[in-house]
Amino acid sequence: QIGDQRAARIPRYVRVNTLSWTTDEAVESLITRGFTVSKPFESAKGFVIDEHIPDLLCFSPQTAFNEDPFYKAGKIILQDKASCFPAAILAPPANDDSVVIDATAAPGNKTSHLSALMKNKGKLFAFERDKKRFSTLTTMLSRAGCKNVDPLNVDFLTVDPLDPKYHRVTHILLDPSCSGSGIVNRMDHLLETKIEDECDDDRLKRLAAFQLLMVKHAMRFPGVQKIVYSTCSVHAIENEHVVRESLNSDEAKAGLFSLASPNEVLPQWHRRGLPDELEHPSQAASLVRCSPGDDSTNGFFVSCFVRNRHLNDKRK
Ligand code: SAM
Repeated sequence: QIGDQRAARIPRYVRVNTLSWTTDEAVESLITRGFTVSKPFESAKGFVIDEHIPDLLCFSPQTAFNEDPFYKAGKIILQDKASCFPAAILAPPANDDSVVIDATAAPGNKTSHLSALMKNKGKLFAFERDKKRFSTLTTMLSRAGCKNVDPLNVDFLTVDPLDPKYHRVTHILLDPSCSGSGIVNRMDHLLETKIEDECDDDRLKRLAAFQLLMVKHAMRFPGVQKIVYSTCSVHAIENEHVVRESLNSDEAKAGLFSLASPNEVLPQWHRRGLPDELEHPSQAASLVRCSPGDDSTNGFFVSCFVRNRHLNDKRK
C-alpha cells in the first residue's frame, strides 16, 4: 500500500530515442496526438521536458505507453528517470574510436541510452549472462536502432580484461543485479529488471559481495578511465559500502581509482550519498541517491570512479 502511494507520486517517464528522431520532433508529434505541454499532475494529457535529463519527458502516472506505436517502433523508451542517471553520468564520448562496455545489459534501457549518447558511433560491448534476458536485450536493441552495440551472452566476470579486444575500453557501466529495494513502481520495475521479494541480511551480503567483485573486475581493464556503478537498492550495504570496499581494494590502488568529483556527478541533483556509511563523509557529495517517491523517481544509487590522471602523470 505504501509502495502504491509512493508510486502515485512518480510520473510516467519516457525517454526519446534520439537515434530515431529529435526531442523537438517527438514533442511536436505528441502535441498533434492531443498531448499538451503542462504539468503532468495537472491534466491527464499533460507532459513536460525533464529538468535534469535531456530528452526525457514526464507524463501523468496513469498514461500507458506499452501499446503505443512510438514505443513499439523503438522511438521512445519507457525508463524511470533515476535509471537514466548512470548513462548520463558516464557520458561516453561519441567518436568513431570510442570503446565502451555495458557489463550487465538486459533488458537494455541503459545500453540504448549509451548508444544514443554515443550517436551510434564507436563500439559498445553489452554483456548479459542470462540467456532469456539476453534475447530480450537483442530485441530491444534492434527495435531502438542501436548499430554500434555488440551484444554478448557472456558473464562479465569471465571476460579477460587483458584481451586485446578490450584494450581501448575507456568507459564501463555497471548496473548489476541488486535487491531492487528502491523500486516502488512495480510496472516500471518489471520492464527494467528482475524483482525478488526476499530481502534478508544473508541475501544482501551475498549481493554486495557479488557487486564488489564486479566493480573490482571493471577496474582491471587497463584503459578504463571511468566506471559508473549503480543499483536500484536503498540499502547502504549494496551502495556506499560497495563503494567503500571498492576504493580500499588492491584493484583501486593499482589503478589509481578514486571517486569522481561532485561536479562531474549530476551536480544539479540535490540528494547525495549517506556520509556516515563512508570512510570519509565528504565522499558523500560524489554519490547520487534517489529516495523512492520523494524524488518523483524509484529509489536509486549512482557512483562514479575515475582513474586519477594526475597521479598517473606523476608516476611517469
Ligand atoms: N542495465 C539494465 C537496464 O537498464 O536495462 C538492467 C540491468 S539488471 C539490474 C542486471 C542484469 O545483469 C540482469 O539482467 C542480470 O542477468 C545481469 N547480470 C548479472 N550478473 C551478470 C554477470 N556476471 N555478467 C553479465 N550479466 C550479469
